Amino acid sequence: MKPSIREFQTLMTTLYGDRDRKRGIEKTLLWMQTESGELLEAFLKGDLEGLKEEVADVLAWLCSVCNLLEIDLEAVAWEKYPFKCPKCSSSPCNCIFH
Ligand SMILES: [Zn+2]
Repeated sequence: MKPSIREFQTLMTTLYGDRDRKRGIEKTLLWMQTESGELLEAFLKGDLEGLKEEVADVLAWLCSVCNLLEIDLEAVAWEKYPFKCPKCSSSPCNCIFH
């Protein structure tokens, strides 16, 4: 079986669950925002290696946020995007405005 987003989220619980709970949801959301900013910064600099690291960090912090909120990221992602655009129900998306 290939590792999934759910397994990654579980790994984040194992690695950082205690620390995340102590930090709390608000500060964890702020950290996720900070990592998103670093991703933008890497993009603007054209730093390809940095981009890879930052997308991994953004995912890790998003998983921490989901853990604290008891949200199954993989389940809600597939629920919202069941192989089609949630707005126009097409794949690929046919929405007029983006
Ligand atoms: Zn669409």
